[in-house]
Amino acid sequence: MQTNIPQSILDTPQGKEANDILRACVHCGFCTATCPTYQELGDELDGPRGRIYLIKDMLEGGEVTQTTQQHLDTCLTCRACETTCPSGVEFVHLAELGKAMVEKKVKRPFRQRLMRSVLVKVLPNRTLFGTLLGLGRLFRPVLPSPLKNKIPQAKKAARFPQQEHLRKVLLIEGCVQPSMSPEIDVAAAQVLDKLGIQTLRLLQAQCCGAVEHHLNAKEASLNRVRLNIDLWFPYVELGVEAILSTASACALEIKEYGYLLKDDPEYADRAKIISDKAKDIVQVLAEEDLSMFKLDKPKRIAFHAPCTLQHGQQLNGRVESLLMNLGYELTPVKDAHLCCGSSGAYSILQPELSQTLRDNKVKHLTAHQPELIATANIGCLHHIQAGSEIPVLHWVTLLDIERV
Ligand code: SF4
Ligand code: SF4
Repeated sequence: MQTNIPQSILDTPQGKEANDILRACVHCGFCTATCPTYQELGDELDGPRGRIYLIKDMLEGGEVTQTTQQHLDTCLTCRACETTCPSGVEFVHLAELGKAMVEKKVKRPFRQRLMRSVLVKVLPNRTLFGTLLGLGRLFRPVLPSPLKNKIPQAKKAARFPQQEHLRKVLLIEGCVQPSMSPEIDVAAAQVLDKLGIQTLRLLQAQCCGAVEHHLNAKEASLNRVRLNIDLWFPYVELGVEAILSTASACALEIKEYGYLLKDDPEYADRAKIISDKAKDIVQVLAEEDLSMFKLDKPKRIAFHAPCTLQHGQQLNGRVESLLMNLGYELTPVKDAHLCCGSSGAYSILQPELSQTLRDNKVKHLTAHQPELIATANIGCLHHIQAGSEIPVLHWVTLLDIERV
């Protein structure tokens, strides 16, 4: 794609990066066919190619309005378009540069600003989020249905194993998962323990930075990433095999640290090392002998591969193979490449579109009568559960450690 971006913008690292990404695009439109928002809204400007044109126009000095912002806001940053693109266009990096520019040029209405600033304050703050979730559970019976559906019932988790092993991984527990579904990380640690791998945990566990990142609070997000690097790097020096997450969105975000801080002379090298160490739980378990977890009799399940797993981390099919090797029967799922509509705070900021995508997803996941739905990310899990009659679980909790 030819561009005509002013030199003053090209001279900035962001301007140069945006120009390089734009020039890789050959306008073929293959990406449009796999974009969930284009499929639902039917407007070229709500698809990747249209959004690329909007960002190009903005960089070339075109008018930027609330309509521009709306078309970029509806993007789920699901990266389905990146998986489809034959030219390797890094759409999400371009979209993030574009969104940051629009944020500076277009003032959002008061309600939107308020909502975004509340989300940026509450979601990454593990203590505050946990307290509010506790209150929500208390008042759940009198809450309106849309809000009630977002508040999961409290679950008791077993204790983390205490056994020491020579092999060690560092587990990043994140912000919302410990309050919403504490059983997931405990199950992962128990499975790792059975395999002779010790799970180290952080006393000062906090958000990976994804929440602020996706809400365009760039500086807050980068500062959190720097803080995490300071906290985690001693574990790298200690020789942990991996920096591990059971939430595919967090694993992806940590894998992006090297990219996010590439222009920071103080942190760039360590950020890259952290990213290289980052692994989704499936990458660790797929390397191990899991025969002790084999089922006695097959169980019929549907698997939802989060976008952050299949498009972001390009790990499509890995969990599915692992589960099938353990004896699970996976039912076919139509349009498995499409987002469920959760996508960070998207379900709160774009509730109607998010719900439509979720309803489509639940319909396809349940079409062949599975006993349960498994997935790999906390956001998808609770979003899909809110629209599903059958249980939705993290796949790692299916590995039955009681039998071992
Ligand atoms: S990231 Fe997802 S929603 Fe956004 S343009 Fe690409 S396919 Fe569409
Ligand atoms: S598929 Fe890739 S090259 Fe083709 S229009 Fe989309 S982003 Fe551009």
